[in-house]
Amino acid sequence: MGLDQRVEQACLIGGNWVATADSLPVICPSDGAEIGRIAAGGVAEIEAAIAAARAAFDGDWGAIPAVERGRLLHRLGELVGRDHDMLARMEAMDTGKPLSQARVDITCCARYFEFYGAAADKVHGETIPFLNGYQVLTIREPLGVTGHIIPWNYPAQMVGRSCATALAMGNAVVLKPAEEASLSALYIAGLALEAGFPPGALNVVTGLGQMAGAALAAHPGINFMSFTGSPETGTLVQAAAAQNHIGCTLELGGKSPQIVFADADLEAVVPVLIKAIVQNGGQTCSAGSRVLIEAQIFDQVVDMLRVRFADLEAGSWEADRDLGALISARQKARVEAFIAAAGAPLAQGRVADDAPEGGHYVAPVLYAPVAEDDPLAQEEVFGPVLACLPFQDEADALRIANSTQYGLVAGIWTSHGARQMRIAKAVRAGQVFVNGYGAGGGIELPFGGTGKSGHGREKGFVALEEFSQLKTIVLNHG
Ligand code: NAD
Repeated sequence: MGLDQRVEQACLIGGNWVATADSLPVICPSDGAEIGRIAAGGVAEIEAAIAAARAAFDGDWGAIPAVERGRLLHRLGELVGRDHDMLARMEAMDTGKPLSQARVDITCCARYFEFYGAAADKVHGETIPFLNGYQVLTIREPLGVTGHIIPWNYPAQMVGRSCATALAMGNAVVLKPAEEASLSALYIAGLALEAGFPPGALNVVTGLGQMAGAALAAHPGINFMSFTGSPETGTLVQAAAAQNHIGCTLELGGKSPQIVFADADLEAVVPVLIKAIVQNGGQTCSAGSRVLIEAQIFDQVVDMLRVRFADLEAGSWEADRDLGALISARQKARVEAFIAAAGAPLAQGRVADDAPEGGHYVAPVLYAPVAEDDPLAQEEVFGPVLACLPFQDEADALRIANSTQYGLVAGIWTSHGARQMRIAKAVRAGQVFVNGYGAGGGIELPFGGTGKSGHGREKGFVALEEFSQLKTIVLNHG
């Protein structure tokens, strides 16, 4: 499949496809082959994109009423749906993920535009009782130009999640996708033009993080920054935001626990435990990468996992196996370093015989029991590596669950009603599932973390508050 002419070696700035002198390769993780090139944007392109966004915000885009913004977002969602098959193949080639996973991602992307399209004209203010002779009310205003830096693991979903929310509130967007996977962001931005968004409402600058990303984060012309990626880069982005006295949301990953008690329905639990780590090759911020198992059923659950792990298979995006290749040679090396340091796993899946040479494949691995202070129990691997830890009782489970620097998602598996609620309240996580687990899913569900997982909430209705500011109006009517 050749790349769409529109997305090759160009940024979308002010409604125009702007070529750059330098370019970066687009590598298909399934076989390591170069399948195209993207523009290597830098300071100049970021400068131009922010100027275009500001002009749109002060002009056509800023003047559009909320109901019409909603219609535009909805239309964009429909166009993503119209091109679903092509976009899914593009996403799978660009990221190496199995085609069926990419299909789900494109469906979610379209759904973000629909959800926030429907929400755009439903953001209400309040009236506040005050002194006699006064009327006080609050209104929500857009922030202005919002910067968005997104990672490579779920590019199309991230475009929907981050940009649809900002656009619904009337902000003008400058998006810097990850250099490893930029194609769907460019294509969706092209669809936004087709949907009728005014030029400059949604701008995309591709390029290296240290160049385009750093230039965007540090630019005094943005009014807010939304960042998803590593804690290290998140720290730099937040420092840059502080220099400009603007707010930011940081979504930085996790070491999310799934806590399994002896009274859980183990036949129902185990497939979910596996999906939560194997989905997207474990390259999911909310991957369920730690399984905490009550001591009396530890051996039983580990044995069930061991049998199933041996059947897991990594393959090319087209082969659509349990998982695909990891995003890059660098990510593969990072994951393999964790595995090498941990030693021989208890169980290991395999790389399919027909997986192309040159792909960045890592067979899924299971470790049990893992010590609480082991790197596999503490650090985000971002690969198909599952660590199992035993616990003695409810208090012990909670202590271990809360023992990392992260706090993004948690899963609780028990049929004991009061215990479900006790742990849901006490566990350090922004999102808690009881007798279920949804790594990455849930457009409607507020999502975000605490500690090293970051701060702020995206998804759901509450995210509209992150991408807007409250104004209080006090009227003295005598
Ligand atoms: P990263 O944080 O460097 O990249 C994420 C985004 O930030 C990309 O768009 C990148 O271009 C941009 N970026 C990089 N340096 C920048 C800078 N100095 N200023 C502004 N933007 C910059 O992450 P990575 O290097 O791709 O991955 C490293 C590790 O981070 C992974 O192994 C994984 O553990 C973690 N990670 C987490 C998530 C998540 O969803 N939470 C996503 C990607 C990676």
